[in-house]
Amino acid sequence: MSKYYSKSVREFIKNRAEGRCEYCQWFEDYTPGPFNIEHILPSVQGGTDSLENLAFSCSGCNGHKSVRTSVFDENTGNYILIYNPQMQIWHEHFTWDSTKTKILGRTLTGEKTVELLQMNRPKLVRLRKAFIALGLHPPT
Ligand SMILES: [Zn+2]
Repeated sequence: MSKYYSKSVREFIKNRAEGRCEYCQWFEDYTPGPFNIEHILPSVQGGTDSLENLAFSCSGCNGHKSVRTSVFDENTGNYILIYNPQMQIWHEHFTWDSTKTKILGRTLTGEKTVELLQMNRPKLVRLRKAFIALGLHPPT
């Protein structure tokens, strides 16, 4: 799954994402391990290495997303495409709850993405809480 990208590609993608996971918005600079460069449309489904198909992702979001691009929605009986960070705008699909520690979906796409990627993992919620106290969360 992990693949080698040149330093310049990696830096371009990290800067484009402002150093944060393009899904859960956590910072790579406050994470022990490096973030992943992930394929929005997985290689096994024909996804390419073009910059429009690559996203900066923490290992948690990347691991939960894996090779999926949609989630079945029982209410509508349809598969809902999950959030695409290069085609969609984060704030149109997600918002913070009143405590700023949990991400809420504003759209069905947002809801299903939060669910699939488990964007409110307990450790992440604890980190967000601590970073609010430091004035470093939520990102502006
Ligand atoms: Zn993430």
